Amino acid sequence: MATHQGVDFQGIVISRNDYKERDMLVKILTDKFGIKTFFVRGARKRGFKLASAILPFSHGVYFGNINDQGLSFINGTRELEQYQQIYADIKLNSYASYILGLAGAAFGNDEPLPKVWFDKFATAIGLINEELDPAIITNIIEIQLLERFGVKPFLESCVICGSTQGPFDFSESYGGILCQQHWYLDIHRMHLDQRTIYYLRLFSVVDLKQLHSIKVKPETKQHLRHTIDTLYSDEVGVYIKAKKFIDQMGSWDQLLKKDGDR
Ligand SMILES: [Zn+2]
Repeated sequence: MATHQGVDFQGIVISRNDYKERDMLVKILTDKFGIKTFFVRGARKRGFKLASAILPFSHGVYFGNINDQGLSFINGTRELEQYQQIYADIKLNSYASYILGLAGAAFGNDEPLPKVWFDKFATAIGLINEELDPAIITNIIEIQLLERFGVKPFLESCVICGSTQGPFDFSESYGGILCQQHWYLDIHRMHLDQRTIYYLRLFSVVDLKQLHSIKVKPETKQHLRHTIDTLYSDEVGVYIKAKKFIDQMGSWDQLLKKDGDR
């Protein structure tokens, strides 16, 4: 078993669990080693010196000893920060947890993840903390992660003829968009409106680092949520615990809206 002694790495705390009487197991998304579980001795004692380093969503530079398999160890941190808004807001919190859950499902424990993906996850969570629409940031991560789950929908042009002229519709059986001439090929196509198609295409290529503001109509957001849920349940088959709460929030919004309509 290889050990990396005294190494520095960027990390974001995903979750933690009590372990025995005084200790904790802390799961951290790292830039160099993927998702690692750290054994933190004495973490539950009062006045523990690394207490703030192992709070959920703490992030910064950590140093310690990393084992390729099994538990790793933190010796210290620097430039440690908290995502204050995420910490304080249960809604932002559940979106951020969901994104970190997806990271776990996509890359697994002890598997190094490409730097580009660490940056994407970190940027997404940073943007949610800055209160850019968390539903949209999450959609972007979900769409871009499809490739990692072995489902990369072809969204550049019509799958059949390569036309870039809309209107388009999305076909699960063809794994991408069809131009109107080719809609007849799939009667079970998703029948999406053009605005939803536009955002699906945009989200597949957008660079989160370049994203400074985004406004999507509530109706389109619902369509995006529904479309991505369909793709995830039909083709990815991954379900993250934090998603349940996001779905519940969605149905509360619906209820409130119905009440408002009366
Ligand atoms: Zn076509």
